[in-house]
Amino acid sequence: MKKILLFIFICLLLCGCKKNDNELVMVTEAGFAPYEYYEDGEIVGVDVEIAKEIAKKVNKTLVIKDIYFDSIINELKSGKADFAIAGMSITDERKKEVDFSNEYITSRQIVIVNNNSSIESINEINNKIVAVQLGSVADSHVTKNKITDNIVRQKKYLSMIEDLKANKVDLIIMDELPAKEILKNNSELKILDGYIFEDSYAVAVKKGNTELLNQINEVIDELKKNGKISEYILSYSK
Ligand code: GLN
Repeated sequence: MKKILLFIFICLLLCGCKKNDNELVMVTEAGFAPYEYYEDGEIVGVDVEIAKEIAKKVNKTLVIKDIYFDSIINELKSGKADFAIAGMSITDERKKEVDFSNEYITSRQIVIVNNNSSIESINEINNKIVAVQLGSVADSHVTKNKITDNIVRQKKYLSMIEDLKANKVDLIIMDELPAKEILKNNSELKILDGYIFEDSYAVAVKKGNTELLNQINEVIDELKKNGKISEYILSYSK
């Protein structure tokens, strides 16, 4: 009897873990306006609009999972999610772990400081206390180029902003548009002129999932061609 109950329990557990075939699961980190953020308890933004088009194309119901940015690649690798769209930059390192779609936007990594900071230029960031999002391209840039020994890696941008305002860190390196959104509510902060490097965003899928990737590329190419991506950016940059 015990064995039968155990068997039923394991079956139920396995069923619960299995993805529903009618659903298309997207992973993201929803603290990154205008790409993905919460509005009235719902995740919205440029990436969500693109994801909706992808779901329409494959005729499935879109399910959005909000997780930490540094967990996204594992979520794809383990098959728990079908694709990631998270303002995620294409890098050679990530290409070893996941497959990327065609790029849908170019971005820049910029520097945020307090208005009254003594740092006046992006050439003065060396050896400062630098905040980055854990697992981001800013994180790998600062780490690889040994910009400083004082790197504060945070899971959420909002914590980084609080640290900067409290002078616990000297500056933040992050993506330009999300930085501009943050500054709209934080007038005591500013973006320094220039940028650290340019990057491009793409959708990521589990390695080898070419069937889905080809459909995603068709959606992206179409949205780029008809100007929809620029429209989404305008409408979500409040
Ligand atoms: N574009 C950056 C990266 O891919 C940050 C993305 C994010 O924080 N959502 O690393």
